[in-house]
Amino acid sequence: MTGGAGFLGSHLCEHLLGRGHRVICVDNLDTGSLGNIEQIRVGGFTFMQHDMTQHIDVPEPVDFVFHLASPASPIDYLRLPLQTLKVGSYGTHNALGLAKAKRARFLISSTSEVYGDPQVHPQPESYWGHVNPIGPRGVYDEAKRFAEAMVMAYHRQQGVDTAIVRIFNTYGPRMRPHDGRAIPTFIRQALENKPITVFGDGSQTRSFCYVDDLIRGIVALAESGEHLPVNIGNPDEMTLLQLAEAVVAATGAQSQIVFEALPVDDPQVRQPDITRARAILGWEPTIDLEEGLRRTLAKVTNRV
Ligand code: NAD
Repeated sequence: MTGGAGFLGSHLCEHLLGRGHRVICVDNLDTGSLGNIEQIRVGGFTFMQHDMTQHIDVPEPVDFVFHLASPASPIDYLRLPLQTLKVGSYGTHNALGLAKAKRARFLISSTSEVYGDPQVHPQPESYWGHVNPIGPRGVYDEAKRFAEAMVMAYHRQQGVDTAIVRIFNTYGPRMRPHDGRAIPTFIRQALENKPITVFGDGSQTRSFCYVDDLIRGIVALAESGEHLPVNIGNPDEMTLLQLAEAVVAATGAQSQIVFEALPVDDPQVRQPDITRARAILGWEPTIDLEEGLRRTLAKVTNRV
């Protein structure tokens, strides 16, 4: 599991260990932390501090390579633009090389950002996207698009058994309060009774998936024989203003909602078409925003 000490990777490590698998967690701790995996006490878990842009070898059999390593929040990839491009390119090449050498199935965590500021709504996997390659977000969006192209080339030309999951905004425990993504930011501000900062006029939409639903979808895809991209996300679309109001309600905060400048190339809408996930994997999300926020808050307030 590359990126196994990150938000999603740590949940996926725990899930797979819970099902009796061995897990080797590979991470350079750029945006993840040992704190995310410190609670893992079971046998069969190994941590390897390694930068995936460098060649990797693992001296034991491997059945699956999950390649999650990449800065993921805008704050991180704007701070680490070259590392983001390198882990999407060299990092994906190294992870695919490992899968090829081990004859392992390979899964990459791609993103809804491959659709850019979409002109098709909701977004099916067949949509090729509308991405600005030279804007500040291009380092992430294009790294992921390049990574998908490399995965398909390894599949078609090198015969590697590959899968691509396009993840839509996911939230849950262990997101960093200062990682800049909407839900952890709103929760932090609400718990401190500070103003909630919404970008633009808050009319842009997103669709938020609770982490447990996402992990179930990723595992179902890993265990399927599918090679083409599959969207995994919650189609329950809302505006950022509605999200801010939901966080205020869930926390019982007294916070005001205030508006800030919209970031460059911020997508106006975002909603997964999950027809393929339903048909191929029999998957759909089951945890609504209210329940997901309740579970997230339970963990956050436990930590405080
Ligand atoms: P995260 O930042 O918490 O996790 C990423 C992990 O990758 C971190 O532990 C980081 O240290 C590690 N990493 C980064 N560069 C590395 C390198 N060169 N070598 C080794 N490790 C490296 O982010 P996350 O939200 O858990 O995202 C995980 C994956 O899912 C990413 O590929 C991201 O693009 C994708 N994704 C996430 C979301 C979401 O909503 N969380 C949405 C779409 C796609």
